[in-house]
Parts: sequence; C-alpha cells; structure tokens
Amino acid sequence: MSKKANTAINCDVLILGAGINGTGIALELSKTGEKVVVLERSTIGSGTSSKSSRLIHGGLRYLEQFQFKLVREALLDRQELLQTYPDLVKMKIFYLPVYRSNPRSAWTIWVGLKLYDLLAGKHNSHKSSIVPRETFTTREPHLMPEGLRAVFQYHDAKTNDLELTRRIAREARRNNARFFEHINVNTISHDRKQFTVITDQGSFRAPTLINATGPWIDEVNDRYELPAHYHIRKISGIHIILDGLLTQDFMFMQTHGKRIFFIIPEHENNHTLIGTTEREETGPVDTVRVKDEDIQYLINNINVYLKPEYHLTLNDVADAFIGVRPLVAHKDTPTDLSREYKLDLIQFGSARLLHVFGGKLTTFLSLSRKVNRLLHQ
Ligand SMILES: Cc1cc2nc3c(=O)[nH]c(=O)nc-3n(C[C@H](O)[C@H](O)[C@H](O)COP(=O)(O)OP(=O)(O)OC[C@H]3O[C@@H](n4cnc5c(N)ncnc54)[C@H](O)[C@@H]3O)c2cc1C
Repeated sequence: MSKKANTAINCDVLILGAGINGTGIALELSKTGEKVVVLERSTIGSGTSSKSSRLIHGGLRYLEQFQFKLVREALLDRQELLQTYPDLVKMKIFYLPVYRSNPRSAWTIWVGLKLYDLLAGKHNSHKSSIVPRETFTTREPHLMPEGLRAVFQYHDAKTNDLELTRRIAREARRNNARFFEHINVNTISHDRKQFTVITDQGSFRAPTLINATGPWIDEVNDRYELPAHYHIRKISGIHIILDGLLTQDFMFMQTHGKRIFFIIPEHENNHTLIGTTEREETGPVDTVRVKDEDIQYLINNINVYLKPEYHLTLNDVADAFIGVRPLVAHKDTPTDLSREYKLDLIQFGSARLLHVFGGKLTTFLSLSRKVNRLLHQ
C-alpha cells in the first residue's frame, strides 16, 4: 500500500525506482537507521524485475566472456539468497544436453562447468556431473535422442522475481523506509546541499538522490537533466509460457547461432517458461513490445530439439512477456558493453547523485552493499 504525501518530506536518501535494485538499496540503507524514501512511478517490481528468467545464478555463459569477477560475485550472492530466503530462492538441477549440431564442444562445456563449481566456492556442495544419455532420454521423452553427444548436470537457483522484490520492499518498510507508488515526478533540482523532487504527491528533499530506474535511466537523466558518466544499451528479451510441463527439469540449450536459451518448468503453476531473446531497442522503454518474430525465434529453436510429434506452433503459446536489460556502456567507449553494473557518484557540494547502471536480479545484495559503502566512505 503506498502512502500519500501532502506536504514536503525531508529524508536522508531519496531513491527513484522500486525494482530489485532500488528496493535492495532501500533495505540496506534503512538497516543503518537512515530515513529512506523510494519513489516508484508504477508499482513495486513492475519493471524489469518481474520480466526476468527468474534465475538466481552466476551466469554460466558469462564465463565465455571471461567475466569471472561477475560470476563469482553472483554465485556468492546466490549462496546468501538461498540461505536467507529459502522459501523464495530454491536450488534446482539443470541439464545441459550437448548435441552434435551444437557450436560448443562437450569438452568446452565440461571445463566451463568445473570452473563454475570452483567459482561457487568450497562451501558449494552441488557439483556438476555427467549424466548417462539413456537416463536423460528416459526422463525427458519430448526431447530428441538422436544426435545427443553428452549430457551434463549442474545446479543453479530459481526464484519468483516479483515476489522477491516485494519481500525486500516489505523488509525495508519494517526498517521505516517509505515507498510511494504511482507517483509522477515533475521536476528534480538541487543546490549544494540537497535535491528537491517535486511530484504529484508532494515534494521530497534529501542530500542524496539515487537513480535506480533500471532500463529507464537514460530517459530519466535526459528528462530531468541529470548528468552521468555512463549510459545504457537497451537489450530486450522475451519469454513464452506454455501450458503444462514440456520437460521435467530445467534445461540449458544452445542455438546454432551460439546463443543460449532456458526451458524452465514451473511445477507449481503447471506451465513451462522458455526464454530468452536479445534485441537492441532504440525507442523509449515503454514502447517495447513482444513481436511475433521473437516468439517464432524461440519456437524454431526449441523445435530443433523436440521429437517431431511434440513440435510447437504459435497456438501452443499461452502467453509471452518482454523485459529490457539495461547493459552499461561508457559514454566514451559505447561499444564496450558489460553485464557488470556501474555505480556513478556525482557530487554537487554536499549534495550527492548516485546512478545505478545495470545490475542483475541475482546481484542486488552485493550491489546494495557497495552503494552503502560508497555513500559512507
Ligand atoms: C529477459 C530478461 C531476463 C533476465 N533474466 C535474469 C535472470 O534470470 N537472473 C538475473 O539475475 N537477472 C536477470 N535479468 C536482469 C534483471 O531482471 C534486471 O537486471 C533487474 O531486474 C534490474 O532491476 P532494476 O531494479 O535495476 O530495474 P527495474 O526492475 O526495471 O526497476 C526500475 C524501476 O524504476 C521505475 N521508474 C522508471 N522511471 C521512473 C521515474 N521517472 N520515477 C520513478 N520510478 C521510475 C520503473 O517503473 C521500475 O519499477 C533479466 C533481464 C531480462 C530483460
């Protein structure tokens, strides 16, 4: 439930955006007794944080890009989230079938999995292993046995992204953080001591303003004339939902074009989630829509691995949703894209503006702690 402000509210930290990063930062800062206010133009978690693949993972495929630091950080966050929110973050078995037509060799994948185990740390008891092909094809009768070269098993965690974001917001509220939803920011101004944000629900003042608006960050910076050292590339991704369970377990599949996609059976909802795609978006985030070609791309790629009698058509798709990944690009080297997040702190006297560029669902804990350290160093 959001609160209405009629008069000016003064606080220590004002956060724009109640996605996983805005709420995570609100929780972290409110633990130290700071007065935190979060302004969300829609509802908590309604942005990218409810459009993800719902995985709490290190990101096996980032190893290919040598992003070891990111993977390690995410795997440590995964461990902590599994322990702290066991009802919402659960370890799952993933199968990685390697077919003859796949671009990566079984050997390369096996090395990657062992590295993934290593980066998860010595407390990780879930080691990857080789699965006999017959065991796999019996367990997964929809998938093609022909051309199957090897099957590997590894572990990663699954969550409900929206519920996780809402839970973090509830915990922040318990520490007296305040959330204002459906709020329209009219203007943002500052002097050398504080920021003033005028909205349709009143005015807010704070010495620190945090911009955690995810994929909207550049649009927000342009609209309110906030300076920044980075900007983002907007990469959209869709998921399709099928009624029923296509596979028993989670699958990590490769496309011929070296991309990957997941098949995620949600037993609790008796449906299957398949995703995702990647397309660079150039228009405003609010105009991004699922396209038939995105759905067809996923169907084509999944059908490669399904026995002909189980091939999917557009009619099998019960629903589809789209989200936009905010990938960081430095203003001077825009092609240097990274999945790593950047915290961009800008001082105006004692007034501080902090932008959160990027940041996966999985890494909100370490991101929020870094924000805390940065603001208190
Ligand atoms: C297809 C896809 C799959 C993904 N899968 C995974 C995955 O499996 N695991 C993983 O770890 N990560 C995944 N991610 C990445 C992850 O979902 C995002 O990086 C993360 O949710 C971003 O959170 P955020 O809080 O920064 O942004 P958001 O969740 O988008 O939050 C930003 C908020 O700001 C609000 N806002 C915008 N403008 C304003 C304004 N002017 N005033 C006030 N509020 C405003 C928005 O309404 C929104 O609620 C995926 C992303 C996509 C797109």
